[in-house]
Amino acid sequence: MVMDSHAQALVDLDAISGNVAALRELVAPSAVMAVVKAGGYGHGAVPAARAAIRGGAGWLGVVHVAEALELRAAGIDSPLLCLMAIGSDAHSAAIEAGVDLTAGSVDMVRRLAAAAADAGRPARVHLKADTGLSRGGATAADWPSVVDAGLAAQAAGRLNVVGLWSHFASADEPGSPSVAQQLAAFGEALAIAEKAGVTPEVRHIANTAGALLVPEARYDLVRIGGGIYGLSTLPGGPPPWLRPAMTLRARLAMVKRVPAGTGVSYGHRYVTTAQTTLGLLPVGYADGVPRAAAGLPLLFARGRRWPIAGTVCMDQLVIDFGDEPVAVGDEVVLFGPGDGGEPTAQEWADTLGTISYEIVTGIGSRVPRSYP
Ligand SMILES: *Cc1c(COP(=O)(O)O)cnc(C)c1O
Repeated sequence: MVMDSHAQALVDLDAISGNVAALRELVAPSAVMAVVKAGGYGHGAVPAARAAIRGGAGWLGVVHVAEALELRAAGIDSPLLCLMAIGSDAHSAAIEAGVDLTAGSVDMVRRLAAAAADAGRPARVHLKADTGLSRGGATAADWPSVVDAGLAAQAAGRLNVVGLWSHFASADEPGSPSVAQQLAAFGEALAIAEKAGVTPEVRHIANTAGALLVPEARYDLVRIGGGIYGLSTLPGGPPPWLRPAMTLRARLAMVKRVPAGTGVSYGHRYVTTAQTTLGLLPVGYADGVPRAAAGLPLLFARGRRWPIAGTVCMDQLVIDFGDEPVAVGDEVVLFGPGDGGEPTAQEWADTLGTISYEIVTGIGSRVPRSYP
């Protein structure tokens, strides 16, 4: 066990492989795209991608071209899609590296066609329809012209339209009428494109929540981010057969006895009520422990929960251990899969009014990820 840094994010790659395998079985015959954007949701993009491929992911997804090129540089040659279209991205480098790109506007289709001319080979393009999220993608009004532009560039040998796709607004809200509305809009967008002559390899709309809850949304491919890490945005968290892959822990850097009435940490927002033992944990908000966690019983040590005593600082926080016989070097778990009674990232999220994705992607870059 490597314990040489101030904190460790331990990533269980077998959990990632196992989650992908279980999801793949659930959605078969649809394929699984493992979304490893944002450094694999904080778990490490390259190790997460390799673990997902081992579990049977046929595709990978990232947001930016730079993220895609990092995977290619690591020797990963799976089908790989950039989910966002940004005009300034290095599209010709992506095309040369065999990375699929997205277009949701006529302008972006033309940019990709020009980048393909620079790259000297056709781009593989997924046309994106906005079916109701109102984020990226072409509106219903613009869709026919985006399809026509894609087909014109395809006829000119600049690109191949290999995918048609969209994204849900509320797939994690069971019963939301927007899901059926978006599915209907996606069906119309597909019909328009296919009638115009597009023959897509893959049609895709579902994220983790959509893949889990909306079988008719699975089409040819589901884009799973949170689920591969054992996380979800569903109320109540992920199904129990998905295993959270990340454990965040640190060791006490200092322990001291203080008298009753001692003010603790910035602003003295916590004051001891009796003689007690304070432990210093060398993680703070720069490491991803939200400042809003002050006072909350989200730390796990010696088989039980302990509250954060006072303000979470940039690099450290304090725990009031009472008369517990703690020592320098004792391990404190912030979150993990929950087996031993430690909180999960889902519990942190529920307590702080956010989603587990924000907790894991917020783990600071100075916390080393290790793969025991
Ligand atoms: C991030 C992302 C996903 C993955 O969403 P999860 O809820 O993590 O499964 C899928 N599709 C798009 C377009 C995304 O940006």
